[in-house]
Amino acid sequence: MKKVILIRFGEIFLKGKNRGFFEKTLVTNIRESLNSFGAIVEKIPGRYIVKDYNEDDEFEIVDRLKKIAGIFSFSVAYCVPTSLEEIEKISVELMKDLSGTFKVETNRADKHTLELNSIQISAKIGGNVLKNNKNLKVDVKNPKYILNIDIRENKETYLYEENILGVGGMPVSTSGNGLLLLSGGIDSPVAGYMMAKRGVKVASVHFHSYPYTSNFAREKVEKLAKIISGYTGKMTIYMVSMTELQEQIHEKCNDSYMITLLRRGMFTVAEKICKKYGKKMIITGESLGQVASQTIESMTVVSNVVKSTPIIRPLVAFDKCETIDIAKKIGTFETSIEPFEDCCTVFLPENPVTRPQLDKVLVEQNKIDFDDIIERAMQSIEIVEINQD
Ligand code: ATP
Ligand code: MG
Repeated sequence: MKKVILIRFGEIFLKGKNRGFFEKTLVTNIRESLNSFGAIVEKIPGRYIVKDYNEDDEFEIVDRLKKIAGIFSFSVAYCVPTSLEEIEKISVELMKDLSGTFKVETNRADKHTLELNSIQISAKIGGNVLKNNKNLKVDVKNPKYILNIDIRENKETYLYEENILGVGGMPVSTSGNGLLLLSGGIDSPVAGYMMAKRGVKVASVHFHSYPYTSNFAREKVEKLAKIISGYTGKMTIYMVSMTELQEQIHEKCNDSYMITLLRRGMFTVAEKICKKYGKKMIITGESLGQVASQTIESMTVVSNVVKSTPIIRPLVAFDKCETIDIAKKIGTFETSIEPFEDCCTVFLPENPVTRPQLDKVLVEQNKIDFDDIIERAMQSIEIVEINQD
């Protein structure tokens, strides 16, 4: 019996003229994700097929397909040439050891090869299964097993039981690319996942304050990036030092502006990276009102440094518990809650301003050589490539 994986795509169906581009991007993403398994990924009308893989890898392949944006659902299926005899033979074989209730459901994309309609095929195949297995009974309302028969236009028929849901959304790289501000916290990996699901090719920037922050903090970020690379595909991280900026602010400015000025530094660097490496948007894990740096006044004064790049905050209206639910689902939560020092926690002021005013912020910022420090931060960039394999 020939086993394959039958993939159904979701929203890309809706994209009239662009459909070819969306489908091609999705198949490229699937091939990249399954590259190490030597499987063949093939397009047939209305579906993709993964075939010729080693059965020992099936579990891992299924796990990877669950993370690929643009896949609506998929099934591990048995494949036969479209003929009633073949379908009968394999359905008897598949159902022979089962007991309880079942029904057969047929879907015909190819309406020509067989003379019977879908209902007639289900009835005929179901009847034949019953004849060969006395432990089964038909129940069309609430069956224990459903034998699905998908008759495709390539003259092949696929039989399967389970329909596994994918993440849905749009294939990565069909909505442009973006730069995620990735900390070691709970929120930013979730923000990255959400934008990947919307078709954005995500790269990350991480700000550290080495040697105040340790290598452990950096490893943690790499570990988080590896987990989300299952969804985003290969990911580049730009590692940037904020050490000098923090030292200068600590030395020369009113301490309560530490976070505001540091974050203005981060966003300035982020936009420069976007310009230099051709990224179209900045993505953050900010959520309105969550902490002092995420009041609308703080966000306004900080994003004021960004001149011509959209800032996307997919979690802006989320409660923390909603974000945590997604973090658990995508597998980042356990890593995010490991203790670590973020550059935001170094030189943490006792009383950070919660509603900063731009004129006062600028007075503080002008006490240091902000532009020169940012230039040196840009010089400090290290590029790390992360892959799920
Ligand atoms: P997170 O859980 O993502 O760290 P948070 O609730 O701790 O978020 P903040 O620390 O205020 O909130 O950070 C808000 C956002 O700023 C983060 O979601 C992230 O996008 C960005 N950010 C914060 N610290 C860093 C950092 N060291 N490097 C890169 N981005 C950062
Ligand atoms: Mg944080």
